[in-house]
Amino acid sequence: MPIRLFDTLSREIRPLQPADGQTLGFYCCGPTVYGPAHIGNFRTFLLQDVLRRTLEADGMAVNHVRNITDVDDKTIRQSQAEGMSLLAFTEKWTEKFHADCGRLNLLTPSEEPRATGHIPEQVAMIEKLVAGGHAYVAADGSVYFKVTSCEHYGELARLDREALRTQSTNSAGESNDADEYDRESVSDFALWKARKPEDGDNFWPSPWGEGRPGWHIECSAMSTRYLGESFDLHGGGVDLCFPHHENEIAQSECASGVRPFARHWFHSAHLMVEGAKMSKSLGNLYTLDDLVEKGHSPMAIRWALIAGHYRQQLNFTMNGLQAAASALAKLEKTLAPLLERLGVSRDEFRGWIAPNSLLTTGVFAPAWEALCEDLNVPAALGALFSALKDLDDPDFDKLALAGQLQGLGGLLYALGLDLFAVEESPAASAPEAVVALAQQRWEAKKNKDFASADALRAEIQAAGWQVLDRKDGFDLEKV
Ligand code: AMP
Ligand code: ZN
Repeated sequence: MPIRLFDTLSREIRPLQPADGQTLGFYCCGPTVYGPAHIGNFRTFLLQDVLRRTLEADGMAVNHVRNITDVDDKTIRQSQAEGMSLLAFTEKWTEKFHADCGRLNLLTPSEEPRATGHIPEQVAMIEKLVAGGHAYVAADGSVYFKVTSCEHYGELARLDREALRTQSTNSAGESNDADEYDRESVSDFALWKARKPEDGDNFWPSPWGEGRPGWHIECSAMSTRYLGESFDLHGGGVDLCFPHHENEIAQSECASGVRPFARHWFHSAHLMVEGAKMSKSLGNLYTLDDLVEKGHSPMAIRWALIAGHYRQQLNFTMNGLQAAASALAKLEKTLAPLLERLGVSRDEFRGWIAPNSLLTTGVFAPAWEALCEDLNVPAALGALFSALKDLDDPDFDKLALAGQLQGLGGLLYALGLDLFAVEESPAASAPEAVVALAQQRWEAKKNKDFASADALRAEIQAAGWQVLDRKDGFDLEKV
């Protein structure tokens, strides 16, 4: 079934297909590694992961490239503040990012290039731009991209081209070298930043003198290196649309002479927290650790972050996270007796969570179709629960049931929902005292001392936790 997706450049929902008919090249702007990623970053990475998984569940090969931004104003400033070399500092935060990705069940990209590992490619691209008259060298040895030299500059962000021409003429020669840019102004931007004393040891040689690359050029150079001058799909959060992606297009197309740089653009809307923009000063900036420390499981967090449509802002709330945890628990609870009927263990079922073609025909087909039509995760989750209701029939033929549940495995693969995962279950993060009570209750229940078991359940509940019985043990869920 063709997978269709909204394309920011054409403003249309279009089929997503690899140009070579085989492997879809997918570039994603990755994290800037100067601290732990927040849940907004993860919403974007998770939606890219769901898209990749959906393509794979459909039988498509995906060459997924996601970079690591390990040199910019923020990484340099922060590494100096902590008295670490840029390399050691960014390595530390890259490792943390990988660990968080693992807990959230994100697939590892096919390639994960680092900006500092691709300086020669960036320098070579800048040389081409200078030679082609698209870039100029300033007096201090910095190199700037000349926005007016690119005829189609502004197409992605739909900038007013007339205003742009006037503005560029009025502000001729005005340039901008900040990595933390002003979104409202259009100006020539830095491709190469001449060495400044505050950069410390962080500089590289170039034909224009020592310095470091600007932020935008790294993605152009690395996507070209790994996916070619024109590739299938490019993704990022909506904030990157302008100027970052606009600049990527301009640099890449002016350097290579090949259009389009990316054939399809995938932007995900931002995550808000309790109705407000996330910020440290409001105290609403959450990392994965913050939420796990509050007793939430990474899988419930994954569910909460992908559950809204990618083109709509997601308002993340603690109630929403509770609802996600309940939905996940309900899914597992509904599934458990069906697996028992088939004599399939939870571990065996986890092995079914893989791409498979059974998904497209059975009761889960409507959920699958929702994913295929502009990655409608909320509709897919809704359809998944209605399909499960259809299966909850003791007369359902066992063989047919097995086939349907394998189809469900394909859907869960696409959503990246690793059901019955024991790793970091809420039980693991419940306070020791609560776990001890739950163990006492489990013993009491085994000894058929139901009065004590009930009393202990009440005590656990009063401490803010709920015990969920399993065949071979228990789970603890935060109330
Ligand atoms: P950064 O580490 O700042 O380069 O961002 C990594 C990714 O997270 C980019 O694709 C951003 O667009 C995305 N991003 C940043 N903030 C949010 C947010 N609040 N909601 C969703 N995505 C975000
Ligand atoms: Zn980028």
